[in-house]
Amino acid sequence: MNKTSKADLSLIKRINSTLIINTIREHGRISRADIAKVTGLTRATVTNLTASLIEKGFIKEAHLGSSSGGRKPILLEMDDSKHITCGVYIDSEFSDIYLTNINGKILEKRRITFDKGTSPAEVIKRICEIIKEMTKEKTPLGIGVAVCGLVNSICGVSIFAPSSGWRQIHIVGEFKKHLDFPIYVDNDVRIMTLAESFFKVTLEKYNNNNKKDFVMVHIGDGIGSSVVLGGQIYYGSNFGAGEIGHIKVVENGTRCNCGNLGCLETIASEKAFIKRVSQTLGKNVTLDEIISLYRKDDERIKLEVFDEAKYLSIAIANIINMYNPSLIILNGGIVKLGERFISHIDNEVKRRSMPYLATTIAPSLLGDSAIEMGTCALVLEKTFERLL
Ligand SMILES: [Zn+2]
Repeated sequence: MNKTSKADLSLIKRINSTLIINTIREHGRISRADIAKVTGLTRATVTNLTASLIEKGFIKEAHLGSSSGGRKPILLEMDDSKHITCGVYIDSEFSDIYLTNINGKILEKRRITFDKGTSPAEVIKRICEIIKEMTKEKTPLGIGVAVCGLVNSICGVSIFAPSSGWRQIHIVGEFKKHLDFPIYVDNDVRIMTLAESFFKVTLEKYNNNNKKDFVMVHIGDGIGSSVVLGGQIYYGSNFGAGEIGHIKVVENGTRCNCGNLGCLETIASEKAFIKRVSQTLGKNVTLDEIISLYRKDDERIKLEVFDEAKYLSIAIANIINMYNPSLIILNGGIVKLGERFISHIDNEVKRRSMPYLATTIAPSLLGDSAIEMGTCALVLEKTFERLL
């Protein structure tokens, strides 16, 4: 006879609790009976585990549901009043520090700036001072930290961040010198991808049939992507999967901060795009000004936007040929150029990728909130592993 060990039982309980929480999150409000139907768990298991989740402050009973006669069922929903998460985004010259509720909604946000050469220890010390002030009244479930570049998320180490020059920095260790909360670190694009797969806002709009395979592409100061296969983010053997910003698109092009020539980032990042347009117009312009001129059908801008779409499509077509995802989600300031820009990318990608792969290309509905929602999702995922 098989014996189920205590450890196995605890693992099963955790998996079932997470399943219940995710079912509640996905449905908004749902009765215990429907949770049992959707998850296949027994009514008794659902009753026990939901009681424990209510006690831990993750879910609560909502107002009465509608029913055709008879007793109205009691619905369960997420309880966003009890717990908070803390998130940190570290860029090369600034850092955003914020608190969210467990639905990823920002409760408070602050920004600090620093010179590019400031040591990682000093930057993190200043961030921790702000966190101490912000968390005086309420202890967060944990801190999610998003950094650019290659990140070993298991050890909590920034392996190499080309934009800031950080190499082999033990981010978790530096935070632990000042704070006693659980700290989790990952690459910024993977964190945005986690926001998409955890909260499912964009997936549900564009990808109802297949939510397991998609790719997130972020176009900012750098260009990165993150690949989700079978519902899991694919990391690669050295945490570097998805570094599409370093696909060569220009022979003998500009030197990239990765050391190579003509990488996608050097020609199509937000900074590179603004620089190209500024040169064409003969004056410095901001992204917002470019977007406004594009909407007014400025012919010079239309050509530049088309070139931008062309460069990005080279890398995106490679991703599609490699992984055959059902959806590519685009995020970053440039995506605000709008539908016409995305349809240029779509057309160019179709020309360059295998026919019949039928990939939808769509803007992220989370937009600028993706990082904040992603660090929240990271903390929640780890908390459920630890507490349930
Ligand atoms: Zn490069």
